[in-house]
Amino acid sequence: MKQIRIDKYLSTMEVGSRSEIKKIIQKKRVSINGISINDAGLKVTPGIDEVLLDGKLIAYKRFRYYLFHKPAGCVSANSDAMHKTIMDYMKDAPGRDLFAVGRLDLDTEGLLIITNDGDFTHSLLSPNKHVEKEYYALIDGSVSERDVNAFKAGIDIGEKKICKSAGLKILESSDTSKVLITITEGRFHQVKRMVHAIGREVIYLKRLKMGRYELDETLLPGEYREFTKEELEDVE
Ligand code: URA
Repeated sequence: MKQIRIDKYLSTMEVGSRSEIKKIIQKKRVSINGISINDAGLKVTPGIDEVLLDGKLIAYKRFRYYLFHKPAGCVSANSDAMHKTIMDYMKDAPGRDLFAVGRLDLDTEGLLIITNDGDFTHSLLSPNKHVEKEYYALIDGSVSERDVNAFKAGIDIGEKKICKSAGLKILESSDTSKVLITITEGRFHQVKRMVHAIGREVIYLKRLKMGRYELDETLLPGEYREFTKEELEDVE
């Protein structure tokens, strides 16, 4: 990996503002490979040189990955004049440059991946990757095998192309049906529009999976956590 200045290294790791980092270095609180330094222009190789601040290792992590349990009423954006955003829930997560991988509607809950890695985002969102997204939905009214077949064949939601084959698994069919819906595209309001096309409405929607990433049910709505080691291994 390319060498970078120690002040840049520390600011990428968000140990403080630029002026704070300058002071930290002047006060000789930083060491590189066991030698304390006071020159902000010194260069280090991320991942190779050992950087300590007050004796504590500052490991280099260029990219960050989080699983967020999006609550209803939160927009999948970084700023909004009316509603809470993901950043209101992730104030403690280091990373000014974080963003959501795709969007969920304001009233949709569930799995939202948050990162600052553009290539990883592309690998999950690119239409030709056909990444599966699984949703749990409550639907007003009953659903039948005919609906399952219609989803399989491809639903017409009034766009140029009909939707790609989608999964509809009926968990319970009653006045308020419980289903699992799996899609491989990311069209605007896709699940709600597909359900509307079979003459029903979604009354609750929660994303459970996106590719190999699953909603961590130990996270309450509004909570997040970093990817585990296993999840990081699958980051392309
Ligand atoms: N489909 C929808 O209709 N809404 C979402 O939030 C996600 C998928």
